Amino acid sequence: MDIVTNKRRPLQTEVGAGWNGATVRRAALGLFLVVLVALPVLPTPEFWITLGNYIGLYSIVAVGLVLLTGVSGMTSFGQAAFVGLGAYSTAYLTTHYGLSPWLGLAAGLTITVVSAYLIGLVTMRMSGHYLPLATIAWGLSLYYLFGNLEFLGKYDGLNGVPVLQLAGVDLQSGRAMFYLIWAVVLLSILAVHNLLNSRPGRAIRSLKGGVVMAEAMGVNTGWMKVVAFVMAAVLACISGFLYAHLQRAVNPTPFGINYGIEYLFMAVIGGVGHLWGAVLGAGILTILKDALQGILPKLLGSNGNFEIIVFGVLLVVLLQYARDGLWPYLKRLVPAAPSRGVPEQATPLSVRSKPEAGELVLDVRAARKQFGGLVAVNDVSFQVRAGEIVGLIGPNGAGKSTTFNLVTGVLPVTSGEVRYRGEVISNKPSREIVKRGIGRTFQHVHLLPTMTVLENVAIGAHLRGDFAAQGGIAAAVLRLNRTEEGKLLAEAARQLQRVGLGDYLYHEAGSLALGQQRILEIARALCCDPALLLLDEPAAGLRYKEKQALAELLGKLKGEGMSVLLVEHDMDFVMNLTDRLVVMEFGTRIAEGAPVDVQKDPAVLRAYLGDID
Ligand code: ADP
Ligand code: MG
Repeated sequence: MDIVTNKRRPLQTEVGAGWNGATVRRAALGLFLVVLVALPVLPTPEFWITLGNYIGLYSIVAVGLVLLTGVSGMTSFGQAAFVGLGAYSTAYLTTHYGLSPWLGLAAGLTITVVSAYLIGLVTMRMSGHYLPLATIAWGLSLYYLFGNLEFLGKYDGLNGVPVLQLAGVDLQSGRAMFYLIWAVVLLSILAVHNLLNSRPGRAIRSLKGGVVMAEAMGVNTGWMKVVAFVMAAVLACISGFLYAHLQRAVNPTPFGINYGIEYLFMAVIGGVGHLWGAVLGAGILTILKDALQGILPKLLGSNGNFEIIVFGVLLVVLLQYARDGLWPYLKRLVPAAPSRGVPEQATPLSVRSKPEAGELVLDVRAARKQFGGLVAVNDVSFQVRAGEIVGLIGPNGAGKSTTFNLVTGVLPVTSGEVRYRGEVISNKPSREIVKRGIGRTFQHVHLLPTMTVLENVAIGAHLRGDFAAQGGIAAAVLRLNRTEEGKLLAEAARQLQRVGLGDYLYHEAGSLALGQQRILEIARALCCDPALLLLDEPAAGLRYKEKQALAELLGKLKGEGMSVLLVEHDMDFVMNLTDRLVVMEFGTRIAEGAPVDVQKDPAVLRAYLGDID
């Protein structure tokens, strides 16, 4: 479909089309709730209630892992250690000091938040394998700590943990605990679901789109990783608290690294990116483990944890044939339901004061970037004024994208400086630069293919929410952010309509054609409320009519006072649109001037080997 055929279909039609899916989902959830409520009152054998309790406890941990591993892309083997913190805190305080279990919970949560925060702070900024390794180290050391501390009862643990009391009711039986445990499971899912469908949640989800993109939208990626890590740890801790009061005793075994691996198994089997997959995975693994523990020793004629071998084989098979776990298969049975729609009425977001026409916006002064011996940008200088469209052209490898990265703080300059509205911005992090009003797109698109077009674009408005200054995590979890969400989604929808993608709000971003994905990135950059827009090859992959629409849009933006710096290979496009051209070759600026003059410049003609006629 053409982006120029911008029929403004009303936003609500797409939501309406998903009604069927939403109904089926609601019915399935209702049925599940009825089963949960009924199980303890029906003459269900005690064995099944116990199994249900464990599935619930494991689900809570696995929900945290969906957030941490599935959504944020960070692997942790150490969740069992946080479960242990929750269990031991309450067990110790209630048995030694006779404190209320709820104080035990508060203590456990405090210890968990502090330790997860510290571990997060140290490891999250490191790349790749450090986190999994750190969580293994953490899991092992806590296990041995539990087992060796005299006051925690060493490997025998602590006994006589009291019964939980809730609103004057003793939760003595497994049946009574069943309700509490499953209420916590549902609340955990709701909390994480709320978080994910919010401004900070989209920031967490954007981690998978690459740190460079997320930071360019103003996301403090290091902090968001810490948030995800702490939240996952808190859920594990709560599960441990419930475990201690269900078992009425604790010992180190269930908090060892084996269990840490099993939790990860559960999240992976269920579907590591899906919240309900956590429950599915916990259910499958728990029931399977129980069955295997009964059958395997009989088959093999000796005792041992043989089920681990079966799990290992299962995991390998799963990773081969169903990377996303089993939940997507269930999900496919139900028509897709769109996520939250755009409200019809929303107060527009406030906008920054824009530079006066002709004001010097961008001032690149002898900027240099060396990669080892390669000088990718060689003391390049140029300026962009408010309301100007400046083209940055040159053959492949000339250093155009690197120049963009210097301006937007993706790379530090080797020497020289970049000023934006008089302020030196070179060597500031990307998220500080976008905060000042520089929005950008990428030569190789960076978007979240499974998120909707609307949500992808809303990431651009990350710094513009009502709660942006405080982080907004608590507000998101408690859904106190409805006004903010409404405004942000309305802004995203407005920018999408502006660029001609108004018909695609609820489509998965990955389903768009490449050219449209580039246009999506422009809408996302516009959501940053920029005064200067940096577009890296925006017309690549567009058809003729789409290019015309893009040129028209950029002309309109210019008319509104926007400054644009543009890298583009399509010479017709560049010549007609830009006020000035800066030409680079081998990192060096070889020409600058009005397009008509640059076109005749012998140095430019040489560089392009006759590409320009
Ligand atoms: P353009 O966008 O003009 O095609 P680039 O700015 O992408 O060119 O690249 C300029 C030069 O810098 C190329 O030789 C490229 O290989 C090199 N380069 C770019 N980024 C890096 C990097 N991160 N590390 C090393 N070399 C790089
Ligand atoms: Mg490039």
